[in-house]
Amino acid sequence: MDMDNERTVAQLLEEVRAGVAEACAKAGRKPDEVEIIGVTKTHGPEVVREAWEAGIRRFGENKVQEAAWKIPECVSGPEWHLIGHLQRNKVRPALELFSVIHSVDSVRLLEQIEHVAGEGGHRPEILLEVNVSGEASKDGVRPEQVPEVIEYALGCRSITLTGLMTMAPFCPDEELARPVFAKLRGLRDQWEKDFGIGLPNLSMGMSNDYRVAVEEGATWVRLGTVLFGTRPKWKPQRGDAERWEP
Ligand SMILES: *Cc1c(COP(=O)(O)O)cnc(C)c1O
Repeated sequence: MDMDNERTVAQLLEEVRAGVAEACAKAGRKPDEVEIIGVTKTHGPEVVREAWEAGIRRFGENKVQEAAWKIPECVSGPEWHLIGHLQRNKVRPALELFSVIHSVDSVRLLEQIEHVAGEGGHRPEILLEVNVSGEASKDGVRPEQVPEVIEYALGCRSITLTGLMTMAPFCPDEELARPVFAKLRGLRDQWEKDFGIGLPNLSMGMSNDYRVAVEEGATWVRLGTVLFGTRPKWKPQRGDAERWEP
C-alpha cells in the first residue's frame, strides 16, 4: 500500500508548500516567487479536479496524445503546460491544448511553432530546454547553442520567450542536482545581459529535487509524485485514437 495514496492532494500540497517556503527562507526568496506546476501525466481527469480544488492552477503534461483526450475531460480553468519533448508534426494539436511549452529544443521546432501559431492566432509562451549537464542522452539544447536559438526566438512574432527549463540527472541525493540548477541560473543571468532581455521563468526541480531547485532560483517546479503519489502505468484509453486528430 502506498502511503501517499492515503493522503489527499490538499494535504500533500500543504507539505510541499512548506518545503518550498523553507527553501525560500534559506535562499532569501519570497515563497510567492515560486509556482507549483502539478504534473498529471498518466493520471485521470479526477486527479486534475482534486488538485484544482486544492488550489493548483497550472498543470503539466508530457505527451500531446495523452493531453488531447484528457484536457477536454478536465475542469476548465487550468493553464496547461507541455513539459515533454515535442515533435514537429505534433505542434498543431499542441498549440490547441497548451499555452506554455517548456521543452523547445531547436530552431527547427521554433520555426514550426511560429508558423502554426501565426496561422492559428495562437500566442504561445515558450521556454528553451537546456541540456546543462551535456549528457548526449538528454533532450535539450547544449549551452553553447542556446544563443542562436534565443536569437531566432526574438525574431518571432507569435512566440514569447519567457525563460529556460532543465532536467537534472535523476539521483536520490538532491544535492547532486544543485550544480545543474546553479549553472542554469548563471547562464540565464548571462544571456539576459548579452541580449538585453528578461528571462524570468526558470522551470527546474521535480519531486526529488525541488527544494534544492528553489534554493537555486527556480520559479516553476514541476511536481508529480510528491503531490499525486506513484504514477499508474499509462494504458491508452478506448477511444483515444478517434478522439486524437493530429
Ligand atoms: C514527469 C515529469 C515531472 C514530474 O516528475 P515527478 O518526479 O513525479 O515529480 C517533471 N518534469 C518532467 C519533464 C516530467 O516528465
